Amino acid sequence: MEIISYDEIKELKFKGTQVAYAIVCERKLWLFSKGIALEHTSDRVNLGKLIDQTSFKSEEGYRDENVSIDFITSENGIIVHEVKLSKALEDAHLFQIKYYIYYLRKKGINALYGILHYPKMKKIRKVEFTEDDEIVLKKLLSGIENVLSLSSPPALVEKPYCKKCAYFEFCYG
Ligand code: SF4
Repeated sequence: MEIISYDEIKELKFKGTQVAYAIVCERKLWLFSKGIALEHTSDRVNLGKLIDQTSFKSEEGYRDENVSIDFITSENGIIVHEVKLSKALEDAHLFQIKYYIYYLRKKGINALYGILHYPKMKKIRKVEFTEDDEIVLKKLLSGIENVLSLSSPPALVEKPYCKKCAYFEFCYG
């Protein structure tokens, strides 16, 4: 099994949601990470319903102290699956699943690739993890560390999806 360095242990402490939020909005990342919990549960409930209505419910998830992967399958290695409601934040979904692949590999698990499922749109997307992805992901993880070291939330930078964000009232109220 590969030996994990101290820096890698630091990198592997984040949740997949934090990686996604690092792409979506650093302010949202900070608020979520500091436990300012205004997250609506509706998306999670909707996602749960969606998973229940599909064959995914029979598949096994992967959970540990940091990550919670929707489900995994095996095929000479592990395939990581994430189910999403919409493609609106696809770049964030991409790096969330790439982080899971990286995370599992660092834990000595042979994660081959990922699949993003968008069942409402009847679409799937295969996600590979390349050497370039590792460079981008490492920068992203170090950026998360920097954001979390701030004593107050990063300044508000308006985004097209702010109105749909659970922190909308907090930011604009
Ligand atoms: S409302 Fe906009 S600025 Fe505020 S946390 Fe959400 S996405 Fe970020």
